[in-house]
Amino acid sequence: MLASSSYLLEQSHATPVSKGWRKQFRDDLFPKRTFHTTAIKVTDMKYNRILLKLSGESLMGKQGYGIDTDRLNSYALQIQDAVNNGVQVGIVIGGGNIFRGLSGAAKGFDRVKGDQMGMLATVINSLALSSALEAIGQPSKVLTAIPMFPIGYPYSKWEAIKAMKEGAVAIMSCGTGSPYFTTDTGSALRAIEIEADVMLKGTRVDGVYTADPEKDPDAKKFDHITYEEVIARNLKVMDITATALCKENNMPIYVFNMDKEGNLAKMLEGENVGTLVD
Ligand code: UDP
Repeated sequence: MLASSSYLLEQSHATPVSKGWRKQFRDDLFPKRTFHTTAIKVTDMKYNRILLKLSGESLMGKQGYGIDTDRLNSYALQIQDAVNNGVQVGIVIGGGNIFRGLSGAAKGFDRVKGDQMGMLATVINSLALSSALEAIGQPSKVLTAIPMFPIGYPYSKWEAIKAMKEGAVAIMSCGTGSPYFTTDTGSALRAIEIEADVMLKGTRVDGVYTADPEKDPDAKKFDHITYEEVIARNLKVMDITATALCKENNMPIYVFNMDKEGNLAKMLEGENVGTLVD
């Protein structure tokens, strides 16, 4: 209030209104973030820019609900390591550890409101990851597909790319910003938009199998599989909308176990730790 009234006073005096006060006013309201500009190394990693999708469920670790801070910190360290190796990192996080619109609808919630609750859950997870990253000195920027400044900055492709080029992790929340979608589709969309080299899907299993390896001991793992086969075999890599979007836009998907520490680094160095879908 004080700050804005002094601007008004300045304006009411006879002196010509300089353009300067407007800029100052804007800068005070929306201070520019200065990231520690860690000089970005020329990377010898397999990929220069990645979109990493983390599911909400994996964030809850062994708990039945919410956020497991050990898991969160482990993710933060692995992500920081990737940035330190010169990789530009964009993240999309799910919200299944807090709320899913479909389960809400099954309990009588309006589906659209339920999905909006689910999207807000992704914002909670994004803030948690951002906080864990900043705590270890890794700059990050939370972008929201639904405007809710100052919780996050409004998402745009260019803001995300700018943040990554400055060495910050761009955390893109709210999925697509629309109901009836999932964060898998949100991450496929963001991966394509930010021109990532690959969309990484961090899961609890180490790739794509012929059947659910947690239920079928005979399930075999694929090192490589095509989008068409994933869709034809109805494999639960991602939902069909997300897989189809990646297929149409030639966005490779790499499915791997993010819960094994060091797996992200190995994958980025070119080691085969999961399944490539392309
Ligand atoms: N959601 C949505 N639109 C989107 C992405 C997500 O409405 O573009 C909602 C939807 O209700 C979903 C919830 O947010 O169930 C959480 O996302 P998701 O289920 O994909 O999370 P995950 O399974 O990855 O934890």
